[in-house]
Amino acid sequence: MKMITAVRGFKDILTDQVDTWLRIETESRELFTAFGFEEIRTPILEKTELFTRGIGESTDIVEKEMYTFLDRSDEQVTLRPEATASIIRAYIEHHLYAANPITKLFTIGPMFRRERPQKGRLRQFHQINVEVLGIEDPRMDAELLFMLKELFAKLGVANLRLYINSLGCPRCRPRFREAILVFLKDKEEILCDDCRRRLKKNPLRVFDCKIAECQAVITDGPELLDFLCADCIDHFDNLQHYLNILSISYEINKKMVRGLDYYTKTTFEIIAPSAGAQNAVAGGGRYDGLVELLGGPDIPGIGFAIGCERLIASLPSMKEIQSAGKLQLFVAAMGEKAELFAYTLVNRLRISGISAEMDLGGKGLKGQMKRADKLRSGHVLIIGERELTDRKVVLRNMRTGSQRTLDIGNLEASVINAMKER
Ligand SMILES: [Zn+2]
Ligand SMILES: [Zn+2]
Repeated sequence: MKMITAVRGFKDILTDQVDTWLRIETESRELFTAFGFEEIRTPILEKTELFTRGIGESTDIVEKEMYTFLDRSDEQVTLRPEATASIIRAYIEHHLYAANPITKLFTIGPMFRRERPQKGRLRQFHQINVEVLGIEDPRMDAELLFMLKELFAKLGVANLRLYINSLGCPRCRPRFREAILVFLKDKEEILCDDCRRRLKKNPLRVFDCKIAECQAVITDGPELLDFLCADCIDHFDNLQHYLNILSISYEINKKMVRGLDYYTKTTFEIIAPSAGAQNAVAGGGRYDGLVELLGGPDIPGIGFAIGCERLIASLPSMKEIQSAGKLQLFVAAMGEKAELFAYTLVNRLRISGISAEMDLGGKGLKGQMKRADKLRSGHVLIIGERELTDRKVVLRNMRTGSQRTLDIGNLEASVINAMKER
């Protein structure tokens, strides 16, 4: 039979990688909980309109990258390309704002974008998303960045660069829009087809066009920071003030607009050099108008997304962690009686939370020790006829080489204690 492979751009996460995934998920959950966040899980399939309205019709995501299709009853649905719109939809639909004026949510899961796989881009990728609803104060913006920085520190990711910018608000952005249009008026010919079309709908999108010619044109263009209204200037100044108070170093990137229409005021990106050429490991910003745009009350919001694949690519020393092995104990048994004894011991240890393994394939002692070695077991216990007669077994620590003799009558408890000592 012909082999069936995974869909292009979709990737299996194999057993040897799952530890890494669990580690970043667990660290995130623990840290976010300490900062007052709660987990929410929304569906991966939504009505297409949620994203066209929420993310913006003229964005790259909506124009080119969404997995959109008609289901059997001709409803147009989309596999979520990002999480914020879904979370806000759930927030509005379930009136979460009524229960609590300040809502802090996070979610972890797969997103889907039909990107070009030849560049190694995944069409199913994973994000950790954090959203805060109900706070306009720039102290919240700084606090989020503090939490993000702390998460990366806990995971051991080094040399991060934080870039911030302000995207203004509906009061000051129209003037900027006008300025872009004036600037690009005689340069339209150089722009790509997409950008020429975008000029009419949303000229800001020219800033995040991936075509080099468009990038070159816009480099000398007007900058948003010069057009901010008093309120936005104040917010941006305060953000920087609180970043300094929290000892967070940052750089202002005046050209950063992020590829989504809903951002207002604060936007940010975190770049990890080790994750490859200028790739953002995390990014986000404020979206004060989004809840209202999606049919809810006028409630401000801010959030960020961490790209899990990029984060994993920038993690250090995962090899070391993996090579340590996760099996705590291998029990080598010789002879029928010893095997039976080992069989009950291994299974009893497992329910006490000790990862234990033994051979069920009839291998000799040498073969069993080879298997323990392959599994990189932390400890090995050898039980033969003599051990059963003497009522004593030797527990060997495979990392330090040290041994200790344990009494067989109390073996289960002794092993558990020994494992706790590490
Ligand atoms: Zn403004
Ligand atoms: Zn372009």
